[in-house]
Amino acid sequence: MKIFNTMTRKKEEFVPINPGKVNMYVCGPTVYDYFHIGNARTFLVFDTVRRYFEYKGYEVNYVQNFTDIDDKMIQRANREEITVKELGDKFIQEYYKDADGLNIKRATNNPRATEFMNEIIEFVKDLEDKGYAYEVNGDVYFNTKKFKEYGKLSGQNLDDLQAGARISVDERKKDPMDFAVWKSEKPEEPSWDSPWGKGRPGWHIECSCMAHNLLGETIDIHAGGVDLVFPHHENEVAQSEARNGKTFSNYWMHSAYLNIDNKKMSKSLNNFFTAREISGKYEAEVIRLFMLSAHYRTPLNFSRDLLESAKSSLERLYNAIGNLERLANEVKSIEITDKEKEYKKQIDSYRDKYIEKMDDDINTADAISVIFDLVREINTNVTVESSKELVEYTLNLIRELGFPLGVLQKSTICNLDEEIENLVDQRQQARKEKNWALADKIRDALKARGIILEDTPQGVRWKKID
Ligand code: AMP
Ligand code: ZN
Repeated sequence: MKIFNTMTRKKEEFVPINPGKVNMYVCGPTVYDYFHIGNARTFLVFDTVRRYFEYKGYEVNYVQNFTDIDDKMIQRANREEITVKELGDKFIQEYYKDADGLNIKRATNNPRATEFMNEIIEFVKDLEDKGYAYEVNGDVYFNTKKFKEYGKLSGQNLDDLQAGARISVDERKKDPMDFAVWKSEKPEEPSWDSPWGKGRPGWHIECSCMAHNLLGETIDIHAGGVDLVFPHHENEVAQSEARNGKTFSNYWMHSAYLNIDNKKMSKSLNNFFTAREISGKYEAEVIRLFMLSAHYRTPLNFSRDLLESAKSSLERLYNAIGNLERLANEVKSIEITDKEKEYKKQIDSYRDKYIEKMDDDINTADAISVIFDLVREINTNVTVESSKELVEYTLNLIRELGFPLGVLQKSTICNLDEEIENLVDQRQQARKEKNWALADKIRDALKARGIILEDTPQGVRWKKID
């Protein structure tokens, strides 16, 4: 399996540190608000990477942090007159609601920066002891000049970086590129005791520290949105490698932006939709299909047209699933025939093609096309004349290929039940409101679909007449 590694700017064969295992760290949200659909792209992409590793049989230790202390957290908490901790608690809960709603699997671990204060202080202390960090009046800075490989992730050297960055001269720093690993206490801000006096950590050190504590000195994959390459991940590399003298992460993966009118969707530009708003309008699987219809390193424009087109694509796939589910109950023969055994090989070739695409740096766009090709093939060749075994095999294959993408796991039969139950509830409501005309209309509509209603002591029951 090949992954594009930002560090080497090449697609490389993925070789895990421990066979069969993947240690993965993804930079998570700052929990000061609901996350937007742009953030959702990054979370969804790496959820898909994780699912694909699991599909391939790997055990994935997936860590995604919550940034629960920074300027934005402090400002928002002060505005709402609650503590930073209360703000974090609230939006972590909201994060789970929205992420679960998008079929994003729960991480193995979701560490909060504030729960790692002792370890962070120890980390900063170690950097200071090794001469990679220096204190100025309670602030501690990382000495970028001392780390000779500074700039290797973003592919720039210190001189380029200095020329490109509009950094104001700060007398306290030895070099303008030096960055804070510890910030001294300011009024109205939460702070922690440390060897440099009261203060709080810089953002970059939090991720270096949590990754180290939960996954070890060298991890397999570190990931996040492309905006994090510089300075966040560059600084993480510097801190971790300076401290441990070892490669921090073997692979670096970065997902491209979700744009709106070709501009990055972001809170600061106020051009965003929350994931919750969009989830209210489109099902999770539609949103996932839309997001995954582009390769993760290609920018994707958010548009209603694209979402609508994902919606009809998904309907086409579920129509095929629905047909197969019905066929499984209608076909006459059970066991697979010799001819069908031959045909199964043809069906299996779609799995091979799908794996080939996903193995090529998680090319979900092409993998989705393979699922459509498979469905086209099945729609013409799997019929009421086929055996139950073949019908079920093809049905399972569609679901299998949908799993890493987080789609096609639902049953249309189940949806039908839900639809009927909704109608039954609507009829009960109409009766309660003494709207007998509507109640009768619903009963007749159900009868036309072969559903009859029975009043029982436990309430209304429905059954299908054959
Ligand atoms: P934040 O809460 O801003 O720290 O962002 C959380 C994650 O979302 C990071 O990995 C960002 O790189 C990512 N992200 C932010 N905006 C976008 C966007 N418009 N498209 C894709 N990813 C984004
Ligand atoms: Zn991070």
